[in-house]
Amino acid sequence: MSDNSLRLVWVYPDLLSTYGDQGNALVVERRARQRGLDVQRVDVRSDQPIPTSGDIYLIGGGEDRPQRLAAERLLRDGGLERAVSNGAIVFSVCAGYQILGKEFVNDQGQRQEGLGLLDVVTLRGEGERCVGDVLADIDPRLGLPQLTGFENHQGVTHLGPTAKPFARVTMGRGNGTGDGTEGAYNDTVFGTYMHGPVMARNPQIADLLLKLALDVNALPAIDDRWYEALRAERIAAATQPA
Ligand code: GLN
Repeated sequence: MSDNSLRLVWVYPDLLSTYGDQGNALVVERRARQRGLDVQRVDVRSDQPIPTSGDIYLIGGGEDRPQRLAAERLLRDGGLERAVSNGAIVFSVCAGYQILGKEFVNDQGQRQEGLGLLDVVTLRGEGERCVGDVLADIDPRLGLPQLTGFENHQGVTHLGPTAKPFARVTMGRGNGTGDGTEGAYNDTVFGTYMHGPVMARNPQIADLLLKLALDVNALPAIDDRWYEALRAERIAAATQPA
C-alpha cells in the first residue's frame, strides 16, 4: 500500500460475478472508506490486462463456460500471479476459487490448468450438486465469528498439503469432499464456496483483507448493526425447521 490509498481490483466482472459477488467489492470499498482510506477501484474486464499494482483482488463465481474462458485468459495474462508474488491479497469465490487452484474440470469435461496460487485441485462431483445455505466456523487462526453463506457448485475441491481450510461447515457441503472443510487459504490468497455476497453477510472478512493490506492488527470499529441483523436473519432462516 502506498500512503493512504488502497487499490482494489475486481477481476473479470463480465465473466465471474454470479449471485451478487460484486457485493464483495462494494463492501471492501465502503469499509475502507469508512476507515479514511482513499480507495481506487478498478474493474478489469476479461479483454483487459490485469494490473499488477493492486493491493486487494476480488474474483467471483461463474457458470462453467465463463469459468473456462476466465481461467484461459488469466493464465495467458499472468498479471495476477505477479501481483501475488508482490504481496497482493486475493479473495475468490466458487469458480474464482477453483481457477486459483492447480486444476479443475471444465465445461467440456476436461482437466484444465488453474493459476496454482492455491494448493487445491477440483474434480467434478459425481453426486448431487451442492446447493443451499452454509454455516461455517472459520479457521480459529483467522479469528472471525461464525460465517453464513450460500453455495451452488458441482465441483469438489481437494486440498493439498500447503492449503489450509478456510473454514469448517456446520451446515452445507463446503469443499464437497465430506471432510467438512470449506474453502482454502495460504498466506494472502483465499478461496471460498460462499456467495451471499459473503462479505455483506460477514463484513469481518472484508476487514481481515484490509488488515492484511494495511499490515495492522486492528481497525477502527464501525457501526455494524445492519450487518449483524442480516447475519442473525440468515442464521435463523438457515436453521429453522422446514
Ligand atoms: N462452475 C463451478 C461449479 O459448478 C462454479 C460454480 C459457481 O461459481 N457458482 O463447480
